[in-house]
Amino acid sequence: MSERFFVAAPIAGDSAELVGDEARHLTAVMRAAVGDEVVLFDGSGGEFLARVTAISKRAVELAIALRREPARELPQPLTLAVALPKGDRQKWLIEKATELGVTCLVPLVTERGVALPVESALDRLRRSVVEACKQCGRNRLLEIASPANAADYFRQVPANAERWIADPVGVAVPAAAVLRPIFCAIGPEGGFTPAEVAAAFSAGWRAVSLGPRILRVETAAIALAAIAATKLERG
Ligand code: SAH
Repeated sequence: MSERFFVAAPIAGDSAELVGDEARHLTAVMRAAVGDEVVLFDGSGGEFLARVTAISKRAVELAIALRREPARELPQPLTLAVALPKGDRQKWLIEKATELGVTCLVPLVTERGVALPVESALDRLRRSVVEACKQCGRNRLLEIASPANAADYFRQVPANAERWIADPVGVAVPAAAVLRPIFCAIGPEGGFTPAEVAAAFSAGWRAVSLGPRILRVETAAIALAAIAATKLERG
């Protein structure tokens, strides 16, 4: 895949401008010159073949030659609601979830959970989403939603979706393909409380097991996301 650059403002019309880190990456790291071709994406699903028309200290100007919309998203939305781990493990989780095609990540507020990401941390995570999209060819950004309280969240998710709560004492993930949106919930290192599990069950969520070993939050999240993505893509 050729070098890809992210334009934060929606691309409309026949020109685009790269600023900040993306402009620096193109000029200083890639040593681009006027006339060079690159691929741009703006997170909305399309990607754009573009040619560099001007380079200044502040920005790179490009002319759009072609817009295309390659199918790189999952056939149905996949949402991961996770009691986020800390630091680098959080970043790892976001990067891998983006690569696997996860549509939306909801930070879950749980009774045994650790600190919630503050807005600046969420912004850093959004930067990790962009980096992962540049690398894996995804043209739609994984959305990082506002944090939600676990018990409330279990009740809010539409009942006509597939709803899985990761629980070491659950059943195996259903064998059949899934043709509707999937929502997955992963608890904190201390696990969901009995009250949280009860809230999920009474709302109709299914407890799914990932095997007899206890996985860390980010391992469980990515293992379940991989299973869910495969169910949506191939059954
Ligand atoms: N201390 C808890 C484990 C927490 S692990 C306990 O003993 O139950 C963190 C989260 O990862 C769990 O809440 C669960 O959602 C998920 N998880 C970890 N291992 C899992 C497994 N083998 N199967 C399903 N979910 C698992």
